[in-house]
Formats: sequence, C-alpha cells, structure tokens
Amino acid sequence: MNEQYDYLVVGAGLFGAVFAHEAALRGKRVKVIEKRDHIAGNIYTKEVAGIQVHQYGAHIFHTSDREIWDYVNQFAEFNRYTNSPVANYKGHMYNLPFNMNTFSELWGVRTPAEAAAKIAEQRAAANLGDHQPRNLEEQAIALIGTDIYKKLIKGYTEKQWGQKATDLPAFIIRRLPVRYTYDNNYFNDTYQGNAVVNYTDAETPYTRVIEHKHFEFGKGDADQTVITREFPANWQRGDEPYYPVNNQTNNTLYKQYAKLAAAEPQVIFGGRLGQYRYYDMHQVIHAALVTVASEFATTK
Ligand code: UDP
Repeated sequence: MNEQYDYLVVGAGLFGAVFAHEAALRGKRVKVIEKRDHIAGNIYTKEVAGIQVHQYGAHIFHTSDREIWDYVNQFAEFNRYTNSPVANYKGHMYNLPFNMNTFSELWGVRTPAEAAAKIAEQRAAANLGDHQPRNLEEQAIALIGTDIYKKLIKGYTEKQWGQKATDLPAFIIRRLPVRYTYDNNYFNDTYQGNAVVNYTDAETPYTRVIEHKHFEFGKGDADQTVITREFPANWQRGDEPYYPVNNQTNNTLYKQYAKLAAAEPQVIFGGRLGQYRYYDMHQVIHAALVTVASEFATTK
C-alpha cells in the first residue's frame, strides 16, 4: 500500500516498456500498469496451435538504424522474414511494393526507362500543376501514375481510412517504396510462404488477409493455420485504437491536447497515440530512447 515509485508507466506498449526498462536500468523504481491482460500493446502476439497470431494486425519489424537494431536484438532473436505482399485487384494479382514486376504486369514494359516514361505520361495527363502534392491522391499520381493509383491505392486507401484520398495527407503514401528494379524480396526456400495479400479494390470490405504462420516460415501445427482479415472501422469510444488519422481536423485537435500536455511537466506522453504519429515500431523505440536521454540528462 505504501509503495513509492519514481515513475508510474501507464501502458505496457513499446514506448512504455522501453522507457520502464531504461529507467529501471538507471536504478529508478518503476511501476508499469496495463489495462489489458497482456503486455506489448498492439504488437502483442498470442500463440494458437504453435502459431504466433498477431492479435491487433500484423507487425513486421524493419529498420535501417543500426542502433535500434542492436537495441532490439538484446531482447529477442529475429528471423529473416521479408515482407513481399501481393495485391489482389478484382482477381488479378500484382506484386507489391510498386516495382518493375508491378509495372511489367500492368503495362508489359521491360525496362526502368519504359516504366518511368509511362508514369511520366500519366502524371502529365493528370495536370497536377507545379505545387507540392496537397493530398494522398496527388502524391500517389505524382509518384506512380493514375493506373496504379486507381487499381492498387485508391480503393484500399479509402476503405482503410474511411475517407477520400483527397482528404488524406500525402505522407501516408510515401511510406511505400517505388522501385525501378525487379525486386519483390521473395525468398528462395521451398517452404517460404507469403503472409500478406492486400485487396486493393473498393468493394471487398477488408483491406488485407494475413496468414500468420508464414511470418515464421510455416512454424506450428502442419494441419492448422490461422487467417485474419482486417476490416477497417471508424473508431468509436470503447473500440481499440489502431491508427492515428492525421487529417487536418485531428492534427488541430491534437495540438490542443499537446498544449495541455505541455502544462504537465511531471507527465511524459509517448507512443503512437500519445504523440499522435503514424509511427512504425522502430520509430517508437527511437522516440522512447530520445525521451530517456533527455529525462536522465536533466534529472538527478
Ligand atoms: N496502400 C495502398 N495499397 C496497398 C497498401 C497500402 O494504397 O496495397 C496505402 C494505404 O493508404 C495505406 C498506406 O499505403 O494506408 C500505408 O500502407 P502500410 O502497409 O504501410 O500500412 P500499415 O501496415 O501501417 O497498415
């Protein structure tokens, strides 16, 4: 009852867990509380028939930051899963991310120059003007042209976010690589599987299908599998929050919260929802470590 702590961490997601671990390493007394019956926030996986099922949607760790890579490897061994989802658009399969295989499947082009010319032609026909792309639609067309925008982006994006692509910020689509090489990152093993199929048309009510066992190359019961479909839904009070929707209204609202948060010097707000950023896992860890560095540089 009389327990005394230096830090109370609310939520055992990546940000809270990294912060708690680092604070404890520095000799601080830390208590972590969590409303769910498990740790790890939305990156939690639950074992079913020997298969690690990603309870809150697939989370595939990737980073180019050596420090973050070394950091996470002290806690766990990572496998070499390479994500190369395919898109199902009205029964036609296309390789993702957008690369020479996709361009060749769509237009029959063979060289990067032919693909670039095709994209430039479509970009010019779309009359985007001289300004920077103002929304996701303009950004997508500027990057890969109207064909790919219509078949692989518009339907998927609008059902995922429940908003018009013209109302969404351009940065969301810049997450996806565009490559002028034949590179889908497939493996060479016989028992590789692909774990992710995106449904890019507007009519299919889900965005993607995940077959979890393929994240670990088919590990688990041979005759069992777990498949999940991701159905987007508008968030309502009581639902699990997943994505920050960084449109103008929400960013303006967030700024008001940030002002209130700044008036609470004893409280640190962090993580995907705490900072209202479309963070990947390595970015959350990085943000937590930056917070740790500044917190422990200033306190005694
Ligand atoms: N996206 C798309 N078609 C796809 C996959 C992604 O248009 O087949 C767009 C969509 O707007 C999505 C964004 O790219 O929100 C980022 O996709 P990512 O797979 O990085 O999203 P996450 O894994 O965070 O759900």
